[in-house]
Amino acid sequence: MGERIPNWLLQRSHISPNKSALIFEDQVWTFREMQEIVQDLQEKLMTCLKKQDRRVAILMKNHPKMVWLIHALQQLEIETVFLNHRLTPAELGFQLRDSQVELLFYDVTLAEIANELYAENPQLRIYSTTQYEEFPNQQLKSRAEYDLAAICSIMYTSGTTGKPKGVQQTYGNHWWSAIGSSLNLGLQSNDSWLCAVPLFHISGLSILMRSVIYGMPVYLMEQFDEEKANTLLQSGQVTIMSVVTAMLSRMLETLGTNTYHTHFRCMLLGGGPAPLPLLERCVEKEIPVFQSYGMTETSSQIATLSPEDAFKKLGSAGKALFPAQIRIIDQNGQEAKAEEPGEIQLKGPNITSGYLARPEANQTSFEQGWFKTGDIGYLDEEGFLYVLDRRSDLIISGGENIYPAEIEEVLIGHDAVREAGVTGGKDEIWGQVPYAFVVMRKPISEAELIQFCRTHLAAYKVPKKIMKVETLPRNASNKLLRRKLLEFLEEEKHS
Ligand code: ATP
Ligand code: MG
Repeated sequence: MGERIPNWLLQRSHISPNKSALIFEDQVWTFREMQEIVQDLQEKLMTCLKKQDRRVAILMKNHPKMVWLIHALQQLEIETVFLNHRLTPAELGFQLRDSQVELLFYDVTLAEIANELYAENPQLRIYSTTQYEEFPNQQLKSRAEYDLAAICSIMYTSGTTGKPKGVQQTYGNHWWSAIGSSLNLGLQSNDSWLCAVPLFHISGLSILMRSVIYGMPVYLMEQFDEEKANTLLQSGQVTIMSVVTAMLSRMLETLGTNTYHTHFRCMLLGGGPAPLPLLERCVEKEIPVFQSYGMTETSSQIATLSPEDAFKKLGSAGKALFPAQIRIIDQNGQEAKAEEPGEIQLKGPNITSGYLARPEANQTSFEQGWFKTGDIGYLDEEGFLYVLDRRSDLIISGGENIYPAEIEEVLIGHDAVREAGVTGGKDEIWGQVPYAFVVMRKPISEAELIQFCRTHLAAYKVPKKIMKVETLPRNASNKLLRRKLLEFLEEEKHS
């Protein structure tokens, strides 16, 4: 057992009962109202819970009902397995078996997937939102405290480098993540956070956790909509928003010559690499972008760059949050010098204690209190972090390291290219050479693109071939699957 602190939502509704907690479409709930709904829901859920249900899965879209359920399960001391409804039933089936869950709550609009999961696994008990809301109430006293060492959520990684892994996040991980974020961004009495990212990802769940811990309202969107998001940011109601690059570029496109309200103070950008041209456009438009670095395992961002540093450190993910530490380890297992790339390793109370049922990954990912991310990056002289790429995607050509992300960024910088993906193919002379795949915005010849690369990249980084494709392989989080590009390459060779 670890340290115990008061039940978050209960404490929050005690301290700031009348403060707005959640805004969805035209409805507003205060923290007290939220606690009342959550209390009622817990009493209903007791009807279907069995003693062995230590862990429960939820398959839902962003909606107040999902917020109530998340809090109710926390108060019932149940570990919540968050399922991504964009995955296929086969992928979800794997996660349910992997986490040994026997009870699933689902959004009634996702009934088709839930029924398929049940057909595959008749042991599973499934209840829709409309079903469990009709359960009779069982008398129940709210849990007074949360154990910081207890597991709160299990969230699967995006599966970019391989099979998704179940990350166990404790109450303490969420607590420290929220504290680290506020020590960095500060907390203002008018703060409110726009959540248009999925609650089943850590980017979304961490906003909910901050909301109860800080006493801060959340504007929840069922689905990201750039026009609605822009309107909210222009109105002055929202001060902070979490985005990934694709969301930010769509918002910029529709924003046109308009600007955001002066109350809007933080566009927290994370989830993947941020292309420089996008960051430059934000600087021009004076949008306060905070580039960040983090992953499911760190329960949200662990490093952030503030806009004050954005000019001189464009492209950096900043410095570690106050409770966390970053180090770079070179190929020889030694701490790398400034500017020298190596594996990014992390330490901090927001980092997972381990993966579910993955002894091997647990063994290779943790060492003397440090978490080995599998990402490559470097720290500059002043200790600012630059993330280069994933170690598994690194291309080694004639002994030189090539980072696919760097080549992709150059290609995307050409106005004829909408998307780009780069991978290494075998080569008799160099061992490996880069191959590029592009989705075009307008026609251009391969020779012209190669010439463009030559003017921006050292010769050994210029792709051997650039192939045009309709779409790039992406996972349910919209992340590029470079390992699948290899299959494209094989097909190309045989055609
Ligand atoms: P899997 O672990 O299953 O392969 P994943 O790593 O994509 O999937 P997430 O936890 O969603 O799953 O993503 C975290 C990863 O995203 C980081 O490890 C890193 O590779 C990438 N990432 C996050 N922030 C940045 C950033 N600022 N720059 C570059 N890459 C980033
Ligand atoms: Mg990962």
